[in-house]
Amino acid sequence: MPRDNIVRFLNPWKFRRELEQQRLVELRRRDGDECRRCRRPLRFDLTQGHDSGPKVEQILPTPEGEEVTLDNLVLCHRRCTAEAADNTREVTERVRRKNEAELFANSRRRKRA
Ligand SMILES: [Zn+2]
Repeated sequence: MPRDNIVRFLNPWKFRRELEQQRLVELRRRDGDECRRCRRPLRFDLTQGHDSGPKVEQILPTPEGEEVTLDNLVLCHRRCTAEAADNTREVTERVRRKNEAELFANSRRRKRA
């Protein structure tokens, strides 16, 4: 931990990058390789900053001074995150409806089986 604090102080960019990388690995282990928003597979072989690449997104805002925990993070496509410029309310709504329809279809399928 003390080493982390030194890196954090001396090189905040490096610290953030390392933290992001570490979270990405853990979220991937927990949730698999799908985007939480559109449910399509994430690409991990692309260059940093690519639209179909993964981005760690926070679900709920944390109170100031509090550490963000993994419970509050998910993996999304860079293009699917809330900050993505092309992610209008309309797109979000469409994705939400599609996810709901999928959930509904899955639950019906399960009942019949
Ligand atoms: Zn996505």
